[in-house]
This record gives sequence, C-alpha cells and structure tokens, in this order.
Amino acid sequence: MRHIKEECGVFGVFSPTSISMSSLAYFGLSSLQHRGQESCGVVINENDCFKSCKNTGLVNEVLTPQALQDLGNGDICIGHVRYCTTGGNHIQNAQPILINRIAHSLALAHNGNIVNAYELRKKLELEGSIFHSTNDTEVIAHLIIKNQLSSSSLQDALQKSAQSLNGAYSLVLMDHSQLIAMRDPHGFRPLCYGQTSRGEYIIASETSALDAVEANFIRDILPGEIVVFDKQGVHSIQTFCNQKPKTTCSFEYIYFARADSSLDGQSIHLARMRAGEFLAKTYPVEADIVIGVPDSGIDAAIGYARASNIPYGVGFIKNRYIARTFISPTQEERIEKLRLKLNPILPNIKGKKIILIDDSIVRGNTTKRLVKLLRGAGAKEIHMRVSSPPFLNPCFYGTDIDSKEYLIACAHSVSQIEKLLGLDSLGYLTLEGMDYMLQTKGLQGYCSACFTGNYPTPIPNNTKKNQFENKEQK
Ligand code: 5GP
Ligand code: SF4
Ligand code: MG
Repeated sequence: MRHIKEECGVFGVFSPTSISMSSLAYFGLSSLQHRGQESCGVVINENDCFKSCKNTGLVNEVLTPQALQDLGNGDICIGHVRYCTTGGNHIQNAQPILINRIAHSLALAHNGNIVNAYELRKKLELEGSIFHSTNDTEVIAHLIIKNQLSSSSLQDALQKSAQSLNGAYSLVLMDHSQLIAMRDPHGFRPLCYGQTSRGEYIIASETSALDAVEANFIRDILPGEIVVFDKQGVHSIQTFCNQKPKTTCSFEYIYFARADSSLDGQSIHLARMRAGEFLAKTYPVEADIVIGVPDSGIDAAIGYARASNIPYGVGFIKNRYIARTFISPTQEERIEKLRLKLNPILPNIKGKKIILIDDSIVRGNTTKRLVKLLRGAGAKEIHMRVSSPPFLNPCFYGTDIDSKEYLIACAHSVSQIEKLLGLDSLGYLTLEGMDYMLQTKGLQGYCSACFTGNYPTPIPNNTKKNQFENKEQK
C-alpha cells in the first residue's frame, strides 16, 4: 500500500444561459488530472434537475464521448478529480457528492481533509444522518443539509457549517440556482476563479484549469472567503476572512500544483526555480550535468543549472501511456513500473557526474530505484539535491503522509540516507531555502508541518487515517 497520496482537484462553472457544460468540465478536469487520478465526477444542473456522472478512473475513462453526450447542456456544473486521502477508492467515495431532497438538493466537491471529521460524523449519525460513503466530504454535505433546516439560504447553511469544520477545505457546491466556492480560513488548499469571454464564471483548484477553458483569471479566493455566483452576479462573503492565520500548504509549491499554475500570486514554476537556485548555492558540487526527475523535479533542476552554470540536460523520458490496469501493487512489479515509466537517456548519463534533482524523498523508494537506473546506465557520480526539507511528520490536511515509520528521514541522518540510497552526496532544501522559494520570512503564510512539526490547527488525538474504513470496509 502506498502511504503518500495525492489529493484532489475541484472545478465549477456558472453560466448565465444554458450551454454545453460537459466539454467545459472535461477540459477543466483534464487539466487538474495531476491532482488526482483515482476517480472523477461531474454534476450538471439543467432545468432544476441534476445530471451526474462519476466513477473510478481517469477523466477520459469516466467522461467518455457517450457520457459527455448524456450530460449535455446546463447552466451550473461542478466537477472533481480524486486521489483518496480519507476513504478508499470505491465508486461510492467518488465526488461530487449529490444529495437530492424535495426541499434542498445539493452537490458538493471538496479538496482537503477535515481533521475533526470522525467526531462530526459520530455526532451527525447520532442525530439521524445516514452516510453512504467513507469520506470526510459527505460529513460536510450532511452538516450543510442539517443546517439548511434552520437557514434561509445555502450560503447561510454553509456559514453555519464552517463554524464546526477544522482542517483543510476548498469547496465547490451548487443547488439549482447558485454556484458557491469556499476556501477554508487557513487557505490550506488553492482555489481561484475567472471568467470566459462568453460570460461563464469558472472556479478551479488551479489556474491551469482556467487556461484550459480559456477563462481569464480574476483572482484567488481568499482564505475564509465564500464566493456566490448566481443570476444576480458575484457576491463575496468575508465573515471568516482574517480569523485564522493564512497557512497555505507549502507542498503545493513543491509538488502538487502544476508548474504552469500560479497560486496566491506566485508562479509555481518560478518558485521551483528559486528552490533549485538556492540548492545550487547551498550545496555546490563539481558535475557534468543537472537532471530533474519528471515532472516536479524539472523546474528546480533548471534553477540549479542556471545558478551553478552546469548544463541542464534531460535525464529521463517519461512514458505517459501505460495503462493503469496493469499497475500492480507488489514491490517487484513496482520496480518494473518505474522502469517503464522513466527511462534514462544514455548519452546524458554514461560516464557523467550527475546532479539529480527531485522534489521530495518520502520513503526513499523512488530515489533508490532511480539510482539503480542511473548506475545501470553508467553514471559515474550521483549527487542528489532535493527541493524540499526532510519529511519528518504526518500531514492531516489532505496528503496521506500518515506514519513516521515510513518516513526515511525520521530514522536516518543525511549521511545514512546517502548510503541507503546509493548516492555520492545528498542535500535537502533548508527552511531558509523554503523562505527563499516562497519569498517569505519564517515561513509566514505557509504550512510546513510535515517538515517542521508546527501544525497550524489542533490535531485531535484520535485522528486516524482511513478512520471510517477501519470500521466499515475491512
Ligand atoms: P518516495 O519514493 O521517497 O516514497 O517518494 C518520493 C517521490 O514521490 C518523489 O518523486 C515525489 O515526486 C513523489 N511524491 C511526493 N509526494 C507525493 C504524493 O503525495 N503522492 C505521490 N503519488 N507521489 C508523491
Ligand atoms: Fe502541506 Fe505538509 Fe502542511 Fe500537509 S503538513 S498541508 S503537506 S505543508
Ligand atoms: Mg516525483
């Protein structure tokens, strides 16, 4: 079982008139695919009816030409790509979550992780809520539905619900007349919106999805902000803004987000370049070539090369066409998978002293296999530079780095890790380097808990990963 997991991507459209929504959703979600590859789903509102399509698989496996045709037109739409962090990879855990009721229908998609989901679910179950999935998003949905009984509008119910939620949530939700976006008060996960030249409003986890549907970026949604899109226009509710310190996930800049996206005004590509530049200054070494591990190590490698005047070269070719159905979880087969996925380019490796850049070392398995590939291709020396600090703590906000025992840096010193992974030298980005990458001081404005142990929210003692699954699915 893999213990680190990607998180999710959310997408939403509000159109003043009925349009072909399915193609917008397809393009938007495809450009968020890097945020989650386990399941995908779309809900579209047409004439006060919800149409939905969701399943396990990639966007193009779920949103087939037939599915897109069936989904057809509408005026409001939300979509989601998912890699499970809470709840297993089952169809009932695919999002958006759709609740059809006579009084209030609701569809909801979520990126992040609710730290107190277990307590909230226990309370809701005692009050009569019936759950169908094992994920924390359904807890948010039930909370909103319960609060709708005493609220005049969906945004009121959302505001009441937000008071009980602890953790990371970038949400898109819809009923038959509104599209709503909310980013949690800490702003852990990204969320932004834009508008197409035809007048549709687009919400997305990343600006890459706005580009994909040719929407002009308007702005990032503020931490704690609720933005409502309806026939009257766009309304911002800022009751929860500035209540908590902003602590956006620094790992978004290191690994999650796509290099062509920009988050809270910072280009991901440039941030990674700065990380590489800092590594070059901190750990200079004589070498022939700088190579990056596709995809998230490439920008830092280019940054390192520029700052060190050592040429950048393509180290690996990534095969993007391996059918997922052949991916098997056993260790031996995973090694084969890496060989199929990344193949070294011999003339750039053979007889060369190499600087190898990756975004992170979590358990160390990827590096170990890469080193084997590079040695097999005749590399003379391998000096690894990592564009994040050592992983020392679990994440409770949407990244399933769940146990210290799997984190190689917890039990080993840098020189021990060098030996274990077969490297000639190893250098991690320092916290000062993180500041340089993020252009801040003392990591102000960012969560760095997996590196520093400074959690921005209280962590309940009984927070368990896959907490609902332990109970229901084993
Ligand atoms: P390791 O093999 O050391 O356990 O993991 C490090 C590698 O996994 C790096 O190449 C990094 O790009 C990638 N990685 C880091 N975080 C995540 C994550 O949350 N999910 C996935 N799938 N890969 C990750
Ligand atoms: Fe991001 Fe790490 Fe904080 Fe999790 S603990 S939100 S991965 S910075
Ligand atoms: Mg990687």
